[in-house]
Order: sequence, then C-alpha cells, then structure tokens
Amino acid sequence: MLNLNLDQLNPEQRQATTHIDGPLLILAGAGSGKTRVITTRIAYLIQRGIKPESILAVSFTNKAATEMKERVAGVTGPKLAKQVYLSTFHSLGADILRRDIDALGYKKPFAILDQGDQNAIIRDALKEFRLDPKIVDPGRILSIISKAKMGFCEPKDLPELRHDPLTQYAQKIDGFYKKALKGLNAVDFDDLICLPVHIFEQHEKIRQKYAKKFQYVMVDEYQDTNMLQLLFLNHLVKDHQNLCVVGDDDQSIYGFRGAVAENILEFERQFEGTVMVKLEQNYRSTNLILDAANAVIANNEVRKDKALWSAAGDGEKLRYIECDDDREEAEYVAAEIERYKLDYDLDYSDFAILYRVNPQSRVFEEALRTYSIPYTVLGGQEFFDRKEVKDFVAYLRACANPNDEVSIRRIVNVPPRGIGPTLLERISEFAHVNKWTFRRALNELARDPSRVEGIGHKVSDKLSDLVDMLDDFGDRFEAAEQDPTVRLAELGRDVLKRTHMINHILSTEKNPRIARRRVDNVEEILSSLAYYQDRSGGTLQKFLTRIALDRSDMNDKSEEQKGVKLMTLHSSKGLEFPCVFLVGMEEEYLPHIRSMNNPQDLSEERRLAYVGITRAKRHLTLTSAATRMRYGKAEDREPSRFLAEIPPETIDIQRAGDAQSLADQREAQNQKYLSALKAQIFKS
Ligand code: ATP
Ligand code: MG
Repeated sequence: MLNLNLDQLNPEQRQATTHIDGPLLILAGAGSGKTRVITTRIAYLIQRGIKPESILAVSFTNKAATEMKERVAGVTGPKLAKQVYLSTFHSLGADILRRDIDALGYKKPFAILDQGDQNAIIRDALKEFRLDPKIVDPGRILSIISKAKMGFCEPKDLPELRHDPLTQYAQKIDGFYKKALKGLNAVDFDDLICLPVHIFEQHEKIRQKYAKKFQYVMVDEYQDTNMLQLLFLNHLVKDHQNLCVVGDDDQSIYGFRGAVAENILEFERQFEGTVMVKLEQNYRSTNLILDAANAVIANNEVRKDKALWSAAGDGEKLRYIECDDDREEAEYVAAEIERYKLDYDLDYSDFAILYRVNPQSRVFEEALRTYSIPYTVLGGQEFFDRKEVKDFVAYLRACANPNDEVSIRRIVNVPPRGIGPTLLERISEFAHVNKWTFRRALNELARDPSRVEGIGHKVSDKLSDLVDMLDDFGDRFEAAEQDPTVRLAELGRDVLKRTHMINHILSTEKNPRIARRRVDNVEEILSSLAYYQDRSGGTLQKFLTRIALDRSDMNDKSEEQKGVKLMTLHSSKGLEFPCVFLVGMEEEYLPHIRSMNNPQDLSEERRLAYVGITRAKRHLTLTSAATRMRYGKAEDREPSRFLAEIPPETIDIQRAGDAQSLADQREAQNQKYLSALKAQIFKS
C-alpha cells in the first residue's frame, strides 16, 4: 500500500533509513540527502507497523516541517502522514504547555510575548532598579537572559559572560522579569522550551506521558540545537533511546543564539550504542560548485573533515561579478535572472537571491519591481513590528484570550478612549489591590466607573463598548471552534468594523499613500487567517500561536506563488535552487562587521558562506559592489575575503560592464540568427 522504494537510496542512506531502534547519528555534508533520509525513514517506520502518531520529527522552521509532511505524504498518503507529529521545537513546546502549563501554576490559555513586550518589561525593571537604559541596554539584557535560558541556568552562571559588567545587572533583572511574566500569565519564546523542561523535571508522570507517546524521535539540522533542546530531547528519549539526529557541523550557523555544535560532535559519547552513518555523495550540486564550497570551508580549523562528491558532472563555472555600486549590482542581478530564465528555460521560482542581513533586500526588490519580475521576500520580520499590525493582532489576541493582559493593555486606548498613561496606571493599581486580572478590572469599571478617580461618563461608555465587544467576539470565536463553516477572517473583519480601526488609521495618517499601505497590512492579516483556516482547519488561537512562533509563516501563502525568493543566508538553510545569486560579497557584510575580530565568529561567517554556496544546484553567481550608498553617502567597499578562498579554476571573474557587453553581443547574435531564420522561411 505504501509507495516506498528503497532502491532509490544509496547503500548508506538505505542503512540509515532502515535502522529502527537505538540512537542513530547521520553526520554529513550539504545536499547529501540527510533530510531525505528523515522523510524516507518516517515512511519506512510506518511500513514496519510503527504507529505514525508515535513518531516525532523536529525541524528548524514551520515551513521545513510542512515540506517534510508533504514529502512523507507522497509515500504514505496524506492520511497517515497527518498523524505523524512533525513540528519545530517551539511549536512542540507550545503544544505541551497548552496541555500542561497549569502544572507550573500558570492559567490556561497563556500568552506568548513578542520582543516589544519583552522590552517593555525590561524597561519597567530598569525603572524599578533606577538603572539608566543608556548604560544598561535593554536589548543586551534580554539577550543575556535568553542565553541563560538556552543554557538552562541563570545569567551569573554563563561562563562566557562572567566578566561582562552587564551580567550582574542581567542577573538582578532576571528575577524581576520572570516574576513579571508569570504575573501576566505569559511566556516568552525561550520559555516554550524552557518551561516544558521544568515540567519534565518536576512532574515525572507528565514526562512519562510524552516519552511514551513519542517512541521514535528524529531531529533535522541537529548542529543548530542548544543545551536546552538537548535536555528537552533527553527527557523524551531517555527511556527508549530511539533518537535519530541528522546534521552537518559545517552548517552550524546559530552559535550567536546559543547553539552548540558540540551537541552533534559529542552525540556518540552522550548516547551510548550510537550507530553513525556518513553520507558522501551530494545529489544537489554540480562538482565545480562543490569544489568551491569544500575549498572555502577547509579554511575552518575545527571541523570534521568530509569528502563530498557529485555524479552530476563538473557543470558550469561559478561567476564573480564586481559591480560599481549597489544599484548596478541589483540591476545586473535582475537582468541576469531574465537571461538565465530564457537561456535555461527556468521558472522565476528557480531563482534565489541570498544576502547576509534583511535590509540588503531593499535595492533588489526595487530592481525586480522595475523589471516586473515577481518575487517574495522570506522572513522579513518588520511586518509584525508595524503599529497597525500589532494593534490588530492584539485585538485578536484579546478576543481569543481574556487573560492576555499585555494585549488588552495595548488596545485599551486604540482607537483613543480617553485612557492616557496615568489613568492606565490607576486601573492597573485598582486591579492589583483587588487581586483581579486587568480584564476583570475593566469589566468592573464599565459597570461602576466611580471606583477609579478620573473616569468620566464618556470614558466609561467607551470602556463598556470595549468589554462588550471583547466578550461578544470571545464567544463568537469560541463557538467557531466547534463550527468549521464559520469563516474566521469574516469574524476578524467584524472586529475591524466594530473597533473602527480602519477609520482610526485613515484619520491619523495624513499621507494617503502610507495610510493605504497600513490598511493593506491589516487586510493582509485577514487574508492570512483565511488561508490558514483553509489549509489547516485550525482555530484563531492556533493561528495566533503560529504567527507568534514563526513570523515567516505569514509569507507561506505568497511563497506558493511563483517568484524569485529573497532571503538571508540563515533562512536559506536546508533549501535548494537551480540558480543562486549570493550578493553583497563584501567585507563587513560577509564576514559581518561584528564578527570580524573574533576567530570563532569568523568561522561561523565562513560556515554561512558555505551554506550559501551549497544552496545552488547548477548556477551560482557571487556579486559585490565597489561603492555603496549608506546614510546618504557613497562608501567604498572591499570584496569579501571568502572570495579569495574559492579556487580560481572554479570561477570566472567579470565586471558587470563586461557582462553587459556580453549580453549585448548575445542579443546581436540572436538578431542575426532570427533574420537568417526568417530569410530561410521566406525562401522556401
Ligand atoms: P542540507 O545539508 O542542505 O540540509 P541535505 O543533506 O538535507 O542537505 P537533501 O535536501 O535531503 O540534503 O537532499 C538534497 C537533494 O538531493 C534533494 O533534492 C534530494 O531529493 C536529492 N537526493 C538525495 N538523495 C538522493 C538519491 N539517493 N537519489 C537522488 N536524489 C537524491
Ligand atoms: Mg537538509
């Protein structure tokens, strides 16, 4: 009944796929079929009679998890594939907390804070301790607190930060921060993994429940896991040891977020009886691309040596194009996409433009628009940081969860209801002394405004409207959970109408073009909600959790449309494209300016270059600009040191101008050919 053909695998892949019990490590280079082994192995386990719901496969992004599910469905059919638990660490953690967070004294449902909310709490803490945010930077404090969570310890126990003067402040603020979160019945992103580990440590019964459920656990991109994730996994697998991990130490690129490559390098030591499989054949790229990638990564000192080869032939040489400035670079890439598309009969979706940091996408977007080339930017986070988007999402959150104090506080005066900061403080105080939630306090005030000084009739009428509205939509969204025919996006649109948010945007934004864009952004959430409901049949609560977990999910919809993909090197991990442009190959971009002075950071930058090069199947172009506009001034740039590490015999070096004249020559040739053809046709 299953459509599983192991003959398509090479002997090592087959060995890994058919391994059933006990720890398994697949340590192999890029494009060698690691992810493919995971998906085939899931199908194989199902074929061997293992229940699909007892299989857990963890990947790095929701998108990768969805893709895996599709690949498994190709072999097992969608019904069985649906039962396999395919997810990211964070959504798995969120699911565990949804069921069991009460074991730690939280209420259900809980809220997930975003970075803005976290920052606000750190600022409260600074006020409380009379610290100056100019000296004690809230962003850095948060990053230390986060690092500590990922190491499952306190800030003061972080060895690498012991001498950092900020660490002692972080230690002090850590307690305040944790208490504040609990008071808000909210968790941050790291808590989604940290709190389940606390539950597992304190409640053996709950741990056993999950350990029993997940009999076979697999993890893709294992080189990017951190200490906390290792602990988490260990709680799940320590009874049966059925853990299969795949990864490539050369692609470990999240060290800056606490990932420890030791997890993969020490796996054999940590899990006794590990079977290790190495894969050496690369199925993705041609050999010249691999030679370049291998040569670059060979400059890193600490690594496991790997020999990658491909049966796909040498292929085309790489190209390095030096452009005069950023505009020329962007236009060159756009023109080349058109040319490749015609010459090799490719689709726009076969192309990717990869860069080091998100803002680099802007010039390329402009050029692609000029050429009318369809494109999608992946993982741009700014969307969710826009005020109107945050406001509307907060409304939806407040409807879905009356305990979500952060969201309710955010919208209580949007559109203005006459509740300024002072009044807001008084209401919080009123809630606090009565030991009520903020929402309950609003309910009481709507009924009897005299209980807090300064609330007149006008304000109290508006408060009544607000709490009625929240109650009403809370009920309607809850009812929708039982009735899949209710369109969540329609309900969302009703929320917009009832709150007059669109009017509010149009009346506060003077510039009509910007106003239009802000309204479009709000609309975008509704269409995303509609798409989500159609695709996964989920509830509002689940949609909100998903966008809190993986903001890039908002782009899922557009990703399916044809178009050139633009993304950072970090988000390109695991993906592949026939034609790749690695742009901005300059010092201070790659390697990034912050990583240039520390050998470890520099190695991580080199691994990023390796990840970028190995995304390409057939065509790879690297570009740099000699000058770049920054802060309104043209700035001289220097080509990346990694370019010099690419063997000269694998790469052609051109200037964008030369390439232009080549293109002109080609155009002339085409014209000649066409007229010859015409002449022939007319003669016969
Ligand atoms: P990365 O390190 O970038 O995550 P990976 O090791 O996970 O790469 P995959 O993405 O699984 O590699 O595979 C790379 C490409 O090679 C895919 O297109 C896959 O379908 C193909 N491939 C893998 N194994 C085989 C095989 N035995 N025969 C044909 N194609 C294969
Ligand atoms: Mg992979």
